[in-house]
Amino acid sequence: MAYKITDKCISCGACAANCPVECIKNNGEKYEIDENACIECGTCAGVCPVDAPSLD
Ligand code: SF4
Ligand code: SF4
Repeated sequence: MAYKITDKCISCGACAANCPVECIKNNGEKYEIDENACIECGTCAGVCPVDAPSLD
């Protein structure tokens, strides 16, 4: 289990700036979570303005 960023993402960068383990990267087109590094803290979901990160 890990958080995933859904298509609702508007690429604001707030999640990447707040992730405690820095596992969210902009791949040039969109933001992605490294599912092997995510500790499921929920911070990204909490700061996202459009509720894009979700547990899969
Ligand atoms: Fe980072 Fe936490 Fe979001 Fe996982 S749940 S991507 S560790 S902020
Ligand atoms: Fe996308 Fe939400 Fe992250 Fe902003 S905080 S980059 S909208 S997932």
